Amino acid sequence: MANSFLFLIGMVIGSFCNVAGIRIPQKKSIVYPGSSCSSCGRKLGWYELVPVVSWLMQLGRCRGCRGKVSILYPVMELLTGMLFMVSPLLLGWSLELLLSWSLIAMLAIITVSDLLYMVIPDRILLFFGALFILQRSLVQNESAWELLFGFLLGFGLLYAIAAASGGGMGGGDVKLMGVAGIVLGWKAVLLAFMLALFLGAVFGSAGLALKYLNRKQRIPFGPFLAAGILLSYFFYNEIAGFYFSKML
Ligand SMILES: [Zn+2]
Repeated sequence: MANSFLFLIGMVIGSFCNVAGIRIPQKKSIVYPGSSCSSCGRKLGWYELVPVVSWLMQLGRCRGCRGKVSILYPVMELLTGMLFMVSPLLLGWSLELLLSWSLIAMLAIITVSDLLYMVIPDRILLFFGALFILQRSLVQNESAWELLFGFLLGFGLLYAIAAASGGGMGGGDVKLMGVAGIVLGWKAVLLAFMLALFLGAVFGSAGLALKYLNRKQRIPFGPFLAAGILLSYFFYNEIAGFYFSKML
C-alpha cells in the first residue's frame, strides 16, 4: 500500500522535475504559466498532465497539433516513481529517505536539463547543495569536515580530469560531483565517478558499433554521472565488496 502510494508520488514529482529541467535552464518560472505544447503552444488541460498515462493515451502526440511529445518525459516520470518506491526497500524506513528522495529529484532534473540543453544549471546545484547540507547534518549528525571532504573530493577529482582532458567534461559535471559528494561522502563519490565512466564507455562503444553515434558527436555526461551516483548511493557496500574481493 505504502509502496504504490510512493510510486504515484514519485511519478508526480518526476513530472515536476521534467518541468524544472525544461524551464530552469531557460530562466523561466517553474510554476507560472501552466504547461503548454512545445510545438503549437496550446495550453494543456489537467487530463493531459497525468504522469505517464496521458502520454500513453495520446500515443506520444499533442491532442491539438499532433506534434510529437518526447518519450523522455514519461520515462523520467516512471523512473522517478520506481526509485521513490524502491528507496525504503533498500534503505529501510528512516530519515535517510529524505536524502534519497532529494537526490533522486535533483538527478532527474539535471538529466532532463543535460539531455535537452547540455547544461547543468548552477541554480539547481546550489539549491540542492544547501538542502543536502541541511539534511545530512540533521540525519547523520556528520561533522562539517566530512561533508566538506566529500564535496572537495567530488569537485576536485572532476576538476583535475576536466582540466587534463581539455573540454571532455563540462563545468556542470564538476560541480554536480561536488554536490553529490555531500550526500555520498568521499569513498562513494569516487565509486560513483568510476561507474559513470564505465557506463559512458559501454554506451559510447555500443553507440559507435550500432552506428547510433558518430565520433564527433558530443554526448552529455550528466545522465551517466546520475546513474553512477544512484548506483553508488544505494549499492556502495555490494559493489565495493565485489570489486575488492576480486582484487585481493
Ligand atoms: Zn501541440
